[in-house]
Amino acid sequence: MTDETWGTVLETLRDQLGANTFSNWIEPLSFSDVTDGVATFHVPTNFMGNYVAQNYSEQIVYLMNRSGADVSRAKFAVAQKSACPTSKPTTTGQPPANTAAVPGAPLDARFTFDRFVVGKPNELAFAAAKRVAEGGPVTFNPLFLYGGVGLGKTHLMHAIAHELTARRSDLNVLYLSAEQFMYRFVTALRENSMMDFKHMFRSVDILMVDDVQFIAGKGSTQEEFFHTFNALVDQNKQIIISADRAPGEIKDLEERIKSRLQSGLVVDLHPTDYELRLGILQSKVRAYREQYAGLVIADGVLEFLAHRISTNVRVLEGALTRLYAFASLVGKEITLELAQDCLSDILRASDRKITVEEIQRKVSEHYNIRLSDMIGPKRVRAYARPRQIAMWLCKQMTSRSLPEIGRRFGGRDHTTVMHGVKRVEELKTIDSQISDDLEMLRRALEA
Ligand code: ADP
Ligand code: MG
Repeated sequence: MTDETWGTVLETLRDQLGANTFSNWIEPLSFSDVTDGVATFHVPTNFMGNYVAQNYSEQIVYLMNRSGADVSRAKFAVAQKSACPTSKPTTTGQPPANTAAVPGAPLDARFTFDRFVVGKPNELAFAAAKRVAEGGPVTFNPLFLYGGVGLGKTHLMHAIAHELTARRSDLNVLYLSAEQFMYRFVTALRENSMMDFKHMFRSVDILMVDDVQFIAGKGSTQEEFFHTFNALVDQNKQIIISADRAPGEIKDLEERIKSRLQSGLVVDLHPTDYELRLGILQSKVRAYREQYAGLVIADGVLEFLAHRISTNVRVLEGALTRLYAFASLVGKEITLELAQDCLSDILRASDRKITVEEIQRKVSEHYNIRLSDMIGPKRVRAYARPRQIAMWLCKQMTSRSLPEIGRRFGGRDHTTVMHGVKRVEELKTIDSQISDDLEMLRRALEA
């Protein structure tokens, strides 16, 4: 069992457990060795070790064996030293002996500014993160980054931590997820070590809490978070927070916390667009060049992926990784066909949503009428029939309700839409031309 095998197990676990669970429970594990069939991992706390043992050890053992190791069970032992690469003991205070019991989460070495591809959707977030990473005087506090899953929040936070620690080794940077914050808090309560907990969190220079939406609805954790937050802001220490939505939109989060979170700079990462996705793929391909020397990727494949795979960068990266792994196994060039074959599940899952506007456009093109006539008030058959066909397709291919469809057809009533849809249902069975048209249009829209 090598670190490399453990690396492949990690990749699989990340896929199977999802990014959150993975970063909270699996990433903090540090693989030690396998002796007599027992795989040993170091964990930051007992609590964590017990939790992982109970919940993930079977899966870990199974995957290790599948990767060629000979393991019958896994053991999770508390590491002697802090596993946190960024949380150095403070130079000023007298760090409590057990500071190491509440280290931050490990940082992903790949999550650097260099590897972050900047595009329109994330340029503001990137600029703000860069500014904070300079480590100058605190100008906005907190920096609040939000955006959907897989858009680069964690990546940017790690990048800030990497850069800050590289620039200022005297700074005590602490990065952890809100979930870890909670478990550390709960553990401290149970183990009567609240003093250490408070001391620990109040002695950091930079605090980063990822996925803060997690503490919504968790009363005492919120309370403690609020106090920690205030104590650090009072000392003019930089705080960086991420969440999956804007502070005001996090349900069950106390008002005073919401307003505290809004008091700094709030920036969002927008869903990726085609250009950004293509840029990310290209940079990945460059990074792969060495590892997969000689593997050819055909023209158009990256464009195809950027077009077809949803906005989540994690899924996009996963697709490319799988494609490379597969192509190198079978020794083939990466072609469009190979991509379609090997990624059919991902492509299906991220099938882009078809909009009413696309349907209207396609149908007008097909019947050679103007879009304005399709939506407009004229009732002559030459416009009415295509209009009804478009309505039927909207009903079939989008999740819009009849009133919503009506609104998009020049503000028509839902009963008009219903009538149109019914009429097409009838025509479909008696008019083969119409049923052919419908089939063709549907296929064109799905392509
Ligand atoms: P989030 O925390 O917002 O859910 P992550 O930061 O974990 O998302 O990003 C998911 C994956 O996508 C990571 O592997 C990250 O490196 C990658 N990623 C996201 N945005 C970018 C980007 N702009 N450039 C390069 N990689 C990115
Ligand atoms: Mg994240």
